Amino acid sequence: MTADHSRAPRAGSPEDDGGAATFDAGVPGPGVEAPLFTAHLEESLDLALREFAERERVLVALDFDGVLAPIVLDPTTSRMLPASAQAVAGLTQQPGVEVVLVSGREAGDLVALAGLPGGTRVIGSHGAQWGRVVDPPGGGTALEAEPVDLTAEQTALKAELLRETEALAADVEGAWVQVKPAAVVLHTRPAERAAGERLTERTLAGPAARDGVRVVVGKEVVEMAVLEVTKGDALVQLRSALGVDAVLYAGDDTTDEDAFTVLGEGDVSIKVGDGDTAAAYRVADPDELSAVLVRLLELRQGTHDSHP
Ligand SMILES: [Mg+2]
Repeated sequence: MTADHSRAPRAGSPEDDGGAATFDAGVPGPGVEAPLFTAHLEESLDLALREFAERERVLVALDFDGVLAPIVLDPTTSRMLPASAQAVAGLTQQPGVEVVLVSGREAGDLVALAGLPGGTRVIGSHGAQWGRVVDPPGGGTALEAEPVDLTAEQTALKAELLRETEALAADVEGAWVQVKPAAVVLHTRPAERAAGERLTERTLAGPAARDGVRVVVGKEVVEMAVLEVTKGDALVQLRSALGVDAVLYAGDDTTDEDAFTVLGEGDVSIKVGDGDTAAAYRVADPDELSAVLVRLLELRQGTHDSHP
């Protein structure tokens, strides 16, 4: 059973305006005092964070787009909110805390965009890719990724999906097709809206309807994966591999529901934004999620540091 502690609906969601970029000019930057944030947190969520912070070993699992980073028109320009980036970096330094970004993005792209500190784990392509950020001796960051193993059948199916989807997309200006290690993805966000919607319908009725294809329809995105894996599957696997006592998961999209539903008592599930959800808690937007992460770091430092 989960309770919905939803806040009043917000105005101007960055996702309901047809995709216009809506960077919030009020985004708090570095140096903003934590109490300014924590005043916004609901009491029930704050209590859950306190209990979570007291557990010996915890996993903090976070979706990227719409959660750490506001949704923007051009997904290659997405960036984490500064307050969230700072909190994530702080959490990775805490003993007993593991941080993982769980995203639909290709893991290498995600690492390049997010500027994650070494040690951060990454699960990309909705659970199909696993890796870890490393700090190479020469500077910068790199992804140490586990290879994605496809069978010969899956490889052939992926090639067919690519061929068919590219043929459909060729007729629609702005539409483009992305190849991921275990999926083919149609992007219609830059296309004229009605043409994009017709292309989505044709894709869903065509390549996406093939046997063995797992389809995820997102915001002007159709992902066709040849591996049957979800964010929830990945979270269950990682939790058991790490042997943590509790998991916090924050996400904003339909694919994140697979993760919310595998969490249980003592875990903290947070839906970012509007819409039906299996999550126990809700925040309005990435700014409020920043407040959650800042608060969690503050609590964890208070609970576990010998020099508070
Ligand atoms: Mg998301």
